Amino acid sequence: MTNDCIFCKIANKEIPSEIVWENDNFLAFADIKPIEEGHTLVIPKKHFDTLPDLEEEISKDYLDVIKKIAKILIDKYNADGFNIVLNNGKSAGQIVNHVHFHIIPRKEGDNKKGLTLG
Ligand code: AMP
Ligand code: ZN
Repeated sequence: MTNDCIFCKIANKEIPSEIVWENDNFLAFADIKPIEEGHTLVIPKKHFDTLPDLEEEISKDYLDVIKKIAKILIDKYNADGFNIVLNNGKSAGQIVNHVHFHIIPRKEGDNKKGLTLG
């Protein structure tokens, strides 16, 4: 737990979130300002600032968790596809300094050709 990290507080259930899925090490929850219906964030419950900071035990499971959440979102929102975005570092638009992947369900004709976050 890092002081004043909002995602640590969400992981510890000190701040409520709309939980999509969780296990001992990861939490998926709804983005508070979704850019499409179903926009979800996937975090390790343990605090790491950025992707290169992840310890091996977490990083080796992260992609499997992303795949699992993507499948959940495709089914739940009847999506055709999805975007995965990770803003790594301030210059790349990272605002919350607790590593997180964005998963954004997409549908044919939703009129967004690309995505810009941050
Ligand atoms: P980033 O620019 O990649 O750091 O994105 C941070 C994301 O966290 C943004 O999409 C915010 O809408 C989202 N966010 C910030 N606070 C919360 C919160 N309390 N619950 C859910 N999502 C949040
Ligand atoms: Zn944190």
